[in-house]
Amino acid sequence: MNHLRFDPTLGEWVAYATHRQDWTFLPPAEYCPLCPAKPGGFPTEVPRERYGIAVFENKFLAFAPNPGEIPAASNGFHKIAPGRGVCEVALYSDDHDSTLASMSDWHIRNLIAVWADRYEEVGSREEVEHCSSSKTRARPSG
Ligand SMILES: [Zn+2]
Repeated sequence: MNHLRFDPTLGEWVAYATHRQDWTFLPPAEYCPLCPAKPGGFPTEVPRERYGIAVFENKFLAFAPNPGEIPAASNGFHKIAPGRGVCEVALYSDDHDSTLASMSDWHIRNLIAVWADRYEEVGSREEVEHCSSSKTRARPSG
């Protein structure tokens, strides 16, 4: 369940997404959900045999367009708001062992163009207040 809680000691909202406990964490390469899908192989998030850069909605998102019910009503001390927003995954390469440092300047320029495109598209949505490279969320309404 996606929601935000206001932390009065930090003076900022903190995201909670309890369903993320079930996400895939450091799987072996042959079961990597972010590698290209191979015919007859393990199904992945990218149903292609090759890709340069891929962007898709995060299956284990911290923020959602329709986050559902918040766990409890806000009160004077504990402010809680829906975790409304957008979470996308941008894959840099279809090579499981690739690193940014090993990529060509051309590929990195394309990656930066993809980030800029996603920043503009998602950031132009009326409900979106803030975009970052790790999370994008909407303004808390509670
Ligand atoms: Zn992989």
